[in-house]
Amino acid sequence: MKFIYLNCKKCGGDTSIKVDNNIKIIYCPYCKEKCLIDDETRTINKNIHYRKEDVARMIESENKLKIKQMELANKDKEHKNEIKKTIGAVFLFLFILLLFLILGLTGIID
Ligand SMILES: [Zn+2]
Repeated sequence: MKFIYLNCKKCGGDTSIKVDNNIKIIYCPYCKEKCLIDDETRTINKNIHYRKEDVARMIESENKLKIKQMELANKDKEHKNEIKKTIGAVFLFLFILLLFLILGLTGIID
């Protein structure tokens, strides 16, 4: 963990934030602007030029996170669909049961 000084380029808001050492991107607590962490000065500056491979790695890890979130969302959707299907099947079963009950009571089925 380390303390870094945030000076947001977008809204000018400044604050100190405790972050993990391996974190490279944080979001401004005031305006949610994405800011990069400079390891040298321990300040945050959106306009810092990172080495190309570092940027690539950051984008890659961000994409991985996005994919993970999408996967989770899909799983949630599938789960909801399963519940819907189950409820549908139960209602169908109850409907058929009711139908036979009515038919039995009215004497159509002996
Ligand atoms: Zn800001």
